[in-house]
Amino acid sequence: MQNKLIFDASGNHEMPFDGTGPHIKVGIYWSIDDVIVGNAVYLHEAEAYGDALQYGGHHGFWENLKPTTEAERKFKSHAYDYYPRGRMVFFRKRQTVRLYVDRCMDNDILNAALDFFEHQETQIEIETDDHYRCVGCNRHYLE
Ligand SMILES: [Zn+2]
Repeated sequence: MQNKLIFDASGNHEMPFDGTGPHIKVGIYWSIDDVIVGNAVYLHEAEAYGDALQYGGHHGFWENLKPTTEAERKFKSHAYDYYPRGRMVFFRKRQTVRLYVDRCMDNDILNAALDFFEHQETQIEIETDDHYRCVGCNRHYLE
């Protein structure tokens, strides 16, 4: 069984979270016509996955969402993987933040995503991932 998330900048994961990690959130997001929709938590609420701290699942979030905004209604009217999506992850050993992106996202969307996760000055890696392909990027897409 995995440890319940416990983050400690020293790398000792048995210690309770003491608030010394970067003040950022991790989680999942989509760009719905340039509006960010998603789910983000601070590191002390994140889930440990090996060395990574992350949060949430794309399909589960989409499935459980009760839309209240225009963007959420558009989001919910298609399959969960229709719009461009990605994930923010924190790697404990290297103390590095990585934003997974869909390759069709432009700088405006990336900046909106960084705001969504309250990213400020920590260095960040931006990576594409074959999992994160929207309907426009995946020629095999079937809705
Ligand atoms: Zn795309």
